[in-house]
Amino acid sequence: MSVLRIEDLCTHYFLGEDRVQAVDKITFDIAESEIFGLAGESGCGKTTAAYSIMRILPENGAIVNGQIFLDGDDVVEKTDEEMRQLRWRKVSIVFQYAMNAFNPVLRIGNQIVEVMQEKQSIDKEEATKRVKELFDEVGLEPERIRDYPHEFSGGMRQRAIIAQALAAEPRLIIADEPVTALDVIVQNKILGLLRSLQKKYKLAVLLITHDLSVVAENSDRVGIMYAGKLVEVGSTVNVFKRSLHPYTYKLIGAFPSVKGPKRRLEFIPGTPPDLVRPPSGCRFHPRCPWAQEICNLEVPEYREYEKKHWVACHFAGEINFEVES
Ligand code: SF4
Repeated sequence: MSVLRIEDLCTHYFLGEDRVQAVDKITFDIAESEIFGLAGESGCGKTTAAYSIMRILPENGAIVNGQIFLDGDDVVEKTDEEMRQLRWRKVSIVFQYAMNAFNPVLRIGNQIVEVMQEKQSIDKEEATKRVKELFDEVGLEPERIRDYPHEFSGGMRQRAIIAQALAAEPRLIIADEPVTALDVIVQNKILGLLRSLQKKYKLAVLLITHDLSVVAENSDRVGIMYAGKLVEVGSTVNVFKRSLHPYTYKLIGAFPSVKGPKRRLEFIPGTPPDLVRPPSGCRFHPRCPWAQEICNLEVPEYREYEKKHWVACHFAGEINFEVES
C-alpha cells in the first residue's frame, strides 16, 4: 500500500471575489522507501500541494475537492485536533528556510525534545537522550542541542530541522526546497544525508524543488507540475530520457547539463498563466510550440501512456520535439 496517495486534489485560494486555482485535480502516490520529486516553475502549485497534505494552508486557502490518503487514512476528513496528532508522527516537513522553522529565543534541542515528548509520550530525559542521538546521526555534535538557532550556520540548521522531522518517526517526510538557500557543497551533503536516512528508516519522501538537477540525482520517480496541473509522472530515468509532455521537454532543455555534451539551452516563451483565469483547454497551450486547435478547446486527459508513465497531453508520443510547428 502507498504511504501517500493523492486523488484529484484541488486546492484554491480565495482573494475577495477571485479564486486562484493553485492545485487542480492532481493524482499521484508515494510508496514506502521511495523518493518522489515534484518539480516545476515557481508558483506552479508544488508548495500548495505540500501544505494541503500537512493541512497547514493559510486562512484563505482550502481543499475544495479530492482526497489525501496517508497510510490509507484520508487527512482531508480529519478534524484540526486529529491533524495536530498526525503531524510529525505520520508526516513531517523540512522547510526551505530552517531559521523560520525554529523559535529564535529557544534552544534548538529543547524545541525538538518538546516535539518528541508530545508525539512519542516519553519523559524529558529519554527525549533529550534521543535528540542527542539524532544530532549525532545528522552530523551535529550532540552537545550543540543547547545552542540557539542563530548560533548555527545555514547547513547546520538544515541538519537540525531534518533531526526534528525524524523526531517522531514519521512515515512520510516532505522536503520543500530543502537546499535552495544553501551553497552547492552544503546542498550535496544535506541531500546525501536525506537519502541515507530515507534508506535507513524506509521513509517515503516528497522532494519539492524547482531545480531539476536535484530531482534527477535524488528521486526514484518524478512529477512535473505546470500551472496547478500535474502534467507528467514517471520514473526519473523515463521522464528525463523520454519526456512525453512538451513542458517537461522544454523544462529539462532549459537546464544546463553538467556531465553531458555542451548544447544550446531551450527557453520557454511567455510566462506562467494567471491562475484566477487559467487558459482554456490545456493550460500550457499559449506557450506550447506544438499546440493545435484542440489544445485550446479540450483539457487533455491525464492518462497512463505507457506502464507507470503518466501524461496529460493530447499528442503524447506523437510529437517530434526536434521540429517546432
Ligand atoms: Fe501542447 Fe497541446 Fe500537448 Fe498541451 S495538449 S502540451 S498544448 S500539444
